[in-house]
Amino acid sequence: MMRFLTDPSLGKLARWLRVLGYDTLYYRQMDLRSMIERARKEGRVVLTRATPLKEKLAAAALAHLFVRSDHLEEQLREVIQAFSLPARPGPFSLCLTCNERLREVAKGEVEGQVPDFVYDTQDHFMSCPRCRRVYWPGTHRQRMEEKIRAWLGD
Ligand SMILES: [Zn+2]
Repeated sequence: MMRFLTDPSLGKLARWLRVLGYDTLYYRQMDLRSMIERARKEGRVVLTRATPLKEKLAAAALAHLFVRSDHLEEQLREVIQAFSLPARPGPFSLCLTCNERLREVAKGEVEGQVPDFVYDTQDHFMSCPRCRRVYWPGTHRQRMEEKIRAWLGD
């Protein structure tokens, strides 16, 4: 599956690529050398809106996409269309904060870590091995699913 690295101007795009299931590193600071090294080492496609980075990437013959739109919805479409990608390769399988693959956890393990009403009404929980954040298919996720459908269709 294609993996990405985004520049500091594309934090929202990085987060939503993770929602769809794309392993995406987000650089908070523009550090051209480190970004290029990391992309090369990990085989990541760089997504950028910065002309200097685009030029460096082209010179280094590294796979990249110069994102044109300022709007998240169009940016997502640009990425998916540019590489003919599936729109949802593994929705809700990555931590939105740290990009780690979530693992399923037994309900008993999250007792006390989620609100009581969530614990009482949900049976399936995932957690991030790095930051320990717990995820479940609740209303927040439903809203994200609705957005994805509106932006990218079924
Ligand atoms: Zn995490």
